[in-house]
Amino acid sequence: MLTEQDVRNIFIETDALRRGHFLLSSGKHSSEYWEKFWVLQYPHHVERLCSEIASRFADEKVDVVLGPTTGGILLAFETARQLGVRALYAEKEGGKRLLRRGLKLEPGTRVLIVDDIMTTGGATKECLVLAAEHQTDVVGVAVLVDRSGGTIELGTRLEALLTVEAESFAPESCPLCINETPLYSPGTSHVS
Ligand SMILES: [Zn+2]
Repeated sequence: MLTEQDVRNIFIETDALRRGHFLLSSGKHSSEYWEKFWVLQYPHHVERLCSEIASRFADEKVDVVLGPTTGGILLAFETARQLGVRALYAEKEGGKRLLRRGLKLEPGTRVLIVDDIMTTGGATKECLVLAAEHQTDVVGVAVLVDRSGGTIELGTRLEALLTVEAESFAPESCPLCINETPLYSPGTSHVS
């Protein structure tokens, strides 16, 4: 059993929860950023986090765990390993998610979707569209951190190991911009 505090501690211990002035993919600015790869570099942390996901869906007869590139691949693989099922990866192509390399998702398959940090829910929703296109039976979605404070409606069961309310600002009214704090774009080499 992992509590929300345990999950937060894993992010803090691995220096994955950053403080500063960040440009989010949504275009908003924020004083914090969850650099998931600093957690995902540790297989033992991934094992523990996915164990919690696997236990929450243990009775759901999951056939396939589906995760979006890039972090979702690691979580899908480890969760599937623990559940003893297949893992598939939803790769981005032309604004949507696809199964590439001829991989198959049969109609009626019981699918669990996993992802790392859910901010706007974009990647998660793209996975739901992919799952629907293959006429699968989605048992739910699991994320490590829901940064929306629980406000995203997915139309399916959502299990977030940690739910937080992201503090974010429109660029024109960002207090960090007013203070002229340097702005970083996460995912680039600027964030060290
Ligand atoms: Zn700003």
